Amino acid sequence: MSAFSNAMRQLDLAATAMHLDTFTLERLRHPQRVVEVDFPVKLDDGSVRLFHGYRVQWNNARGPFKGGLRFHPQTDLDEVKALSFWMTIKCAVANIPFGGGKGGVTVNPKDLSKAELEDLTRSFTRAIADVIGPEKDVPAPDVNTTPQIMDWLADEYGKYVGKPSLAVVTGKTIEHGGSEGRGTATGQGAYYVFEAYREKLGLDPESSTVAVQGFGNAGQEIARLFHRHGYKVVAVSDSQGGVHDENGLDIPQLIKLKAETGRVTRLPEARDITNDELLRIPCGVLVPSALENAITADVAHEVKAQLVLEVANGPTTPEADAILAKRGITVIPDVLANSGGVTTSFLEWQQNMTGEKWTEAEVFDRLKPIMDDAAAGVMRTAEEFGVTQREAAFVLALKRLDQAIRKLV
Ligand code: NAD
Repeated sequence: MSAFSNAMRQLDLAATAMHLDTFTLERLRHPQRVVEVDFPVKLDDGSVRLFHGYRVQWNNARGPFKGGLRFHPQTDLDEVKALSFWMTIKCAVANIPFGGGKGGVTVNPKDLSKAELEDLTRSFTRAIADVIGPEKDVPAPDVNTTPQIMDWLADEYGKYVGKPSLAVVTGKTIEHGGSEGRGTATGQGAYYVFEAYREKLGLDPESSTVAVQGFGNAGQEIARLFHRHGYKVVAVSDSQGGVHDENGLDIPQLIKLKAETGRVTRLPEARDITNDELLRIPCGVLVPSALENAITADVAHEVKAQLVLEVANGPTTPEADAILAKRGITVIPDVLANSGGVTTSFLEWQQNMTGEKWTEAEVFDRLKPIMDDAAAGVMRTAEEFGVTQREAAFVLALKRLDQAIRKLV
């Protein structure tokens, strides 16, 4: 099943549970706008090549479209549509004044030099410049897109509109209008959400271990936070494979190793494992932090965790979701668990719009209550409707979206 059909299955399940208004459901099954562009990039050998990119604007009833840009060889319209829809739900779960959007370019950025990557970013920005803007549609980083890439985007957009326009994109470097705390916000937010559920589930550092799939921006930070709070992180992996040590891995050391060598494997004291094995490791908390569809039905039968904390977007298929629910394994859904990223993007956007500059402590002081409210709202809704945490997150978001959408018709 594709990511987009999974997303629509999730929408239908929640819509049925809450008897969602039929117009709102129809509206949310379709994006408001899909932009597809072919744009030229100058390569280092002097040749020029066309690349294909997308910006999907799902819904802006609650505020400007908001969502990341992904540079990945497998990025296609189906994936960007799913991610764009999920952003709409996520911003409504976090209750921030944004709608949902997402973009991407089909490219392996590892095949490009820095100059080529900059030209690709600037050329893509020009190609979508008339549909984005601080009060229209605000991109951000996602898989393989960095603060440096966001800086190039803001700079190119500024040239297009003839004035500096920092608030057109979030996730920039601190030197170019980025927010303190944005780099680690997705992991930080996920940890706040985990803490909100921790007691209810009886998880603590003494009895619970952690396994993290995907060791990029989000995965490294959540692994670091669990490690810092005394949890044994027993396994981590990246696209090339992973490591397992039931006595706990030294996460700061692994982050250093990944930065220096690009890998997390071949440690003297730990056992190398495949990505598939990581998902089946006995642990308290399993944290998928890589890509979509990691936990399929086959995997779900063999997950040995008490809790799945979805830091990645769309890591669990609907079939797997049903199996995990039946087995009594709680899933804290992506639209709640990783919403700290977009919430801190909102805080960055607010700073850019008002010219204020907050410290990291001030940013996290604003982030925490938003995450706490979102987690409490989802838990409450799950009890009220007798549904899973994912369905509850969708029901909560759909209620808010329904109000906003119906005001506009
Ligand atoms: P990233 O590019 O920094 O890291 C991705 C990591 O996943 C890399 O370590 C890569 O090696 C690994 N990976 C790729 N394929 C894998 C596989 N098959 N098995 C195991 N690992 C694999 O990206 P990121 O920003 O950390 O994003 C990761 C996930 O979190 C994505 O689903 C993204 O949409 C989601 N997310 C990120 C943010 C954010 O602020 N960065 C916010 C919300 C959601």
